[in-house]
Amino acid sequence: MFDLTGKIALITGGRRGMGKSHALFLARQGAKIAVTDINADECLPVVEEINAAGGEAMCVTLDVSRKTDVDTAFDAVIKKFGRLDILVNNAGIYVSKPAIELTEEDWDKMLSINLRGQFLCAQRAAKEMAKNNWGRIINISSVASGQVGVGIAGGAHYTASKGGVIGMSETLAIEWAPLGINVNVIAPGAIDTPMVQAAQMPKDAMDTMLARVPLKKIGKPEEVSAAVVFLASDEASYITGATFYVDGGWLAA
Ligand code: NAP
Repeated sequence: MFDLTGKIALITGGRRGMGKSHALFLARQGAKIAVTDINADECLPVVEEINAAGGEAMCVTLDVSRKTDVDTAFDAVIKKFGRLDILVNNAGIYVSKPAIELTEEDWDKMLSINLRGQFLCAQRAAKEMAKNNWGRIINISSVASGQVGVGIAGGAHYTASKGGVIGMSETLAIEWAPLGINVNVIAPGAIDTPMVQAAQMPKDAMDTMLARVPLKKIGKPEEVSAAVVFLASDEASYITGATFYVDGGWLAA
């Protein structure tokens, strides 16, 4: 089960954190990987790790907020691997700022990376996947995405972007089902990555948050990657338009 031999996967924001973990997990299942990030050189260690383990990977520069980058990067992947089967829309930023102080630039930057960037990549990916009538698009949202009771003070622009990811994905799932493309969302809870480390949450705030998580710990990137592998596989054939919360039970509590 979950064999991805012969599949081609592109991961955005793949140089570190969860993106790196997703790349390693998909490669372990047999997929060939395009590891993309703003600076391709910084993807090299991930590519080397995959190749050293017997896989096949390439680095590509891709700032998801730039349409020209999206076209150039996807062209490079198609040129090397000949097709695209799996897209993990992982790239994202989090910058905390009180809503009253947010500028238009703050808002636009967040939305252009976290939401518009996912759309640009998904749209181009769908055009490639439709050629083979098979595709998996996995968009990364967050428990902080609305409807489920997790707001983040200082994150109005972030939560707007992550809520948008879910709405967009449900629509894409409907439009692209006839093309053989399944579109799903993973909404992680708190996961131990450079993004969370950079937020430097005070210990008491972290303890308060973890008190709401039944599994009583922050998640590891690998615990999210397992869900990515499943949704990328043939075994997820009857799942589309769904949101999977990988959150240690946070939303159930
Ligand atoms: P991370 O460690 O900060 O990694 C994010 C990656 O995205 C970095 O490699 C970063 O590259 C890249 N990136 C930033 N802007 C980009 C752009 N314009 N184009 C392409 N790549 C870009 O974060 P993470 O925690 O692994 O987060 C991965 C995803 O999960 C994000 O979408 C995040 O919102 C979401 N998420 C995270 C958590 C959590 O608790 N960690 C929870 C819920 C959802 P540079 O380092 O070069 O800037």
